Amino acid sequence: MTDKITGHAERSSAVDLRSTSSVVEHGRPVVPFVDLKVIHDSLDVEIALAIQSVVDRSDFILGRSVAEFESAFAEFCGVQHGIGVDSGFSALELSLRAYDIGPGEEVITAANTFVATVAAIEACGATPVLVDIDRETFNLDPQLLEEAITPATRAIIPVHLYGRPAAMDQITAIAARHGLIVLEDACQAHGAWYGSSRAGALGHVAAFSFYPAKNLGALGDGGMIVTNDDAIDARLRRLRNLGSVEKYRHDVRGFNRRLDTLHAAVLNAKLPHLDAHNDWRRRAAARYIELLADVPVICPRFADAGEHVFHLFVIEAPQRDALRSHLLDMGFETGIHYPIPIHHQPAYRGLGAVGDYPMTEESANRILSLPMYVGISDDAIERTCDAIASFYGRRA
Ligand SMILES: *Cc1c(COP(=O)(O)O)cnc(C)c1O
Repeated sequence: MTDKITGHAERSSAVDLRSTSSVVEHGRPVVPFVDLKVIHDSLDVEIALAIQSVVDRSDFILGRSVAEFESAFAEFCGVQHGIGVDSGFSALELSLRAYDIGPGEEVITAANTFVATVAAIEACGATPVLVDIDRETFNLDPQLLEEAITPATRAIIPVHLYGRPAAMDQITAIAARHGLIVLEDACQAHGAWYGSSRAGALGHVAAFSFYPAKNLGALGDGGMIVTNDDAIDARLRRLRNLGSVEKYRHDVRGFNRRLDTLHAAVLNAKLPHLDAHNDWRRRAAARYIELLADVPVICPRFADAGEHVFHLFVIEAPQRDALRSHLLDMGFETGIHYPIPIHHQPAYRGLGAVGDYPMTEESANRILSLPMYVGISDDAIERTCDAIASFYGRRA
């Protein structure tokens, strides 16, 4: 059988991605930053069946697949309840609202995160307070956490950035001392382990995004909240659905933030492959680390790789911008996560002055995200590393 997208022969089985290559040279990048076709081609039959089953039942809003996927994903995380919502942003915002966090209250998060974390804090009327990152892990520095706590602080949102869990032992201990809620932003860390628990099982409540490029991605927007707290679960089911769990009876004031049945069905088809997909990312990361050993860039430490799910593979590179254009000229796409720290963004200047979060600011000029996706071939990784080495005048 010939692969519909790549034209390569012998796509053997649904889970074997080895026979698909992502290196395409006709008018497209030699190695793209992300390629979502590989993963979806490998699961095309499962996905088509999932979509057809929803069309057949036509239960498009809060249908059977939503409940099925909520249970499956909660169980995967090792948590009691899953509440499907329409995005990671909604998962964060509604979680804060479920704890009645709002105006006059502060929520602490990491200075280097995707803007949605901060936007969600502001959406419920609370004030974001940033804490600088630990330079080695790029996650919230627990040493700086306690001094950011004030009498107005209600919650901490550690972000498991790039797929590596934050320092949850220290963070939850500090939170417990101060009576604070811990909301994990696990939007980049589906399936990551921290000790014997998964991301999502490490705080009071956790938010996931199923944005297509995340480790578990829908065919559009989607999200999930997981928690062991029965009362919070009950509140969240109402908040996402205009205050209602029984048709036309509205217990509280809510929103329309539901996860579509179609997305839930597709996600349910993809979930059984998530651990294998994360293993693919880990193998790719290990290969990068090996091939870049003699190049003057700093790679993530592989000692953490057992827990890290490499949503992104981020290196620190001298002359980052020149390296990035050199790579692009040769057909290798890269990313920067994130090029402008939130407190330097036009919309969020009030959150801090230049120099307030020095580790975040310094790393913003040096970080570079290399191509990383399920199905990335060894060949693509080797060629990317050769191109990096050629920039620094060395051989990989
Ligand atoms: C993707 C992401 C979000 C938001 O998710 P959406 O589904 O796009 O709303 C929040 N936080 C982090 C760290 C993310 O990476």
